[in-house]
Amino acid sequence: MDKEFDNLISSASQDEELDHVGDNHIGTSKETPLREDAFSMSDEDKMQKIQGHFKEIMETLGLDLTDDSLRGTPKRVAKMFVNEIFGGLNPEKAPSTSTFSNKYGYEEMLVEKNITVYSTCEHHFLPIVGKAHVAYFSNGNVIGLSKMNRIVDHYAKRPQVQERLTIQIVEHLQKALGTEDVACIMDAKHLCVNSRGIRDIQSSTVTAEFGGKFKNPEVRKELMDYIKLELGKENI
Ligand SMILES: [Zn+2]
Repeated sequence: MDKEFDNLISSASQDEELDHVGDNHIGTSKETPLREDAFSMSDEDKMQKIQGHFKEIMETLGLDLTDDSLRGTPKRVAKMFVNEIFGGLNPEKAPSTSTFSNKYGYEEMLVEKNITVYSTCEHHFLPIVGKAHVAYFSNGNVIGLSKMNRIVDHYAKRPQVQERLTIQIVEHLQKALGTEDVACIMDAKHLCVNSRGIRDIQSSTVTAEFGGKFKNPEVRKELMDYIKLELGKENI
């Protein structure tokens, strides 16, 4: 009897602990927590399985899946999960990170700013929408500008916490470019905060990861000044 009670208490406090982690958007690791068998099933099989599970969720909510408007939803959601919004879970789908030699000898900071971020909060499975600004100093290698957008997009297409997303983008670029001198600043709205829970429409979350030279406050300030520039608005 006592043991049963103890188990009950410990599972209740475990639930509380998990709620605390999720409600406060606490990430537990900078690697996406993946199962060892994450890619042993084909994408086709995953979609089939998710379709069945999602149908059950909808039916549990009391929805009538014989209605023409709802009938196709489980399949649509399954395809969207596997091919689109969580397509970045598979490292094989990462964009190629071929670099070029820095022939023009450009030695200043390069900033790719206002990169659109569409991701998904891993605690509520609701959208994270925002902008990322990515910067680096070349140490001999340069990377195509759109590659930076693609790298952001790849890691965004996972269930995420914003802190981890920011770090993953920086670490990927550091590896590709062979330099520590990479930074990412992200400003994003979490719909789980804006549309439910505390329902604060205005708030957004800013995260930053500064590698190498970007740890220097002057370099950091230069980066912030570039991000604040609004050239595009008036001239294009
Ligand atoms: Zn959330």
